[in-house]
Amino acid sequence: MSYVVLARRYRPQKFSEVVGQTHVVRTLANALKQGRLSHALLFSGIKGTGKTTVARIIAKALNCENLIDGYEPCNECRNCVEINKGIFVDVIEIDAASNRGIDQIREIIDNLKFAPAKGRAKVYIIDEAHMLTKEASNALLKSLEEPPSHVYFILATTEPNKLLPTILSRCQRYDFRRLDFALLIKHLKEICKKENYEIEEEALKLIAREAQGSLRDALSLLDQAMAYGTKTKEDVISAFGWHEAILVEQLAQALLERNLQKLLTLSQEIYNQGVDLVYLMEKLVEFFRELFILKAFPKDTTHQIDSSGMRELVMEYELEEIFLILQSLLKDLEVLRRSNYPQLQFELALVRICEYKKLVPLREVIEKLSKISAEGIKLKESAEEKSRIEERASQGQKKKTWNDFVELLKSESPALFGVCSYVEDVKLENGKITLKAKELLLNSPYYQVFKEKIEEFFEASVEFEIKKQKRTDLNEIKNRKEVQAIIKTFSAKIAYIQPLNKE
Ligand SMILES: [Zn+2]
Repeated sequence: MSYVVLARRYRPQKFSEVVGQTHVVRTLANALKQGRLSHALLFSGIKGTGKTTVARIIAKALNCENLIDGYEPCNECRNCVEINKGIFVDVIEIDAASNRGIDQIREIIDNLKFAPAKGRAKVYIIDEAHMLTKEASNALLKSLEEPPSHVYFILATTEPNKLLPTILSRCQRYDFRRLDFALLIKHLKEICKKENYEIEEEALKLIAREAQGSLRDALSLLDQAMAYGTKTKEDVISAFGWHEAILVEQLAQALLERNLQKLLTLSQEIYNQGVDLVYLMEKLVEFFRELFILKAFPKDTTHQIDSSGMRELVMEYELEEIFLILQSLLKDLEVLRRSNYPQLQFELALVRICEYKKLVPLREVIEKLSKISAEGIKLKESAEEKSRIEERASQGQKKKTWNDFVELLKSESPALFGVCSYVEDVKLENGKITLKAKELLLNSPYYQVFKEKIEEFFEASVEFEIKKQKRTDLNEIKNRKEVQAIIKTFSAKIAYIQPLNKE
């Protein structure tokens, strides 16, 4: 007996066996129960998600002689059996990819008026309906609009956007979704159990990831895996030549670590192996998308990435960082697709990401900021300052200048040093210091400390003449000492300046 592929052997025969697509199944079952099924249905969705399978179940439900619960075909009556064998005359399947012309459609239309030969309903299943020619689609339109009461049309398509809008508007549409990862794994496991085939879950995960939500793809990969006798993740990788999977993980890790040397070594390896770079880049983009979701929803259990190493790695990086890499890769993927120098483009993409400075996590920023202000406020007499005082004493009556003071602050406290820029026109007279200061100084949290510091340094009383602030000059803001200090501390750049809303 010849081998029947898993996808066929385990093809769902009734609604309750359909994997996933619960929203579609429930609605269709209800419509059947109530006898209100639309005569023109459109099933859209990626390949291998069960569109034709569900269409056949409907065809059986419409013709079954012992319908169960008003919607479930019995799969035992003559009609059901014949439909399962594909020999029932009233269920007509047309593959629009190979019969896309007007003649086939005319033939259908001419036959519509005849009552079903054996069953209760004539069901036309038109697969890949978007492949029909424009003439054929137009000819079909009228029948879709007012089909005879015994006729049902089920159009299946992977590309609903290519259908004529008039066709779309005449059909009741059902969207078949990609199967989620966990469900795919569960289903694969069940089948392996039924087949008495032992295989590592890690290996099934690889298969499920490659299938991209298509059950049929997953099953045909499993078929191959079984044929090769693969049991482990490593077996699967070598049997299918999925070395990319490993390369992608290595690349992702090196990108996150900004390890340029490792990236370039990998890139050379990839070049030597003759890996398709566009394909690899696509996989890398997908991988970062998964990392992004993993980072954003760490508690979600349906992640495609289950390697604990990757999980741990991802937790070390900020969401923004992963997003930045994803965004950059996605842009480069587009360029790579059109490039005449793919290898160069690929390397450029990697280098560019390395060039991005690592994003500083928010908590680190807060830590640094509080360190700055703590330093500013404490102003404790460090050993350094003590030595300065001693130095001062030894210099005797040598006059202290404003510049000395500024220099001192520069070494002691960046925050107070920044405040110096608010001050100009310093006059030292008879033990009293007069300073012209900008209004900003009064609002500064360092105002009091700053004042005390001056008094302490010059051993004199301080008086500020406050100048009313004119409109803020952007360049002035950029050049402020405290801004410069922050820029320096964080190796940052100014992205934009936003005025604070004062009431
Ligand atoms: Zn039946």
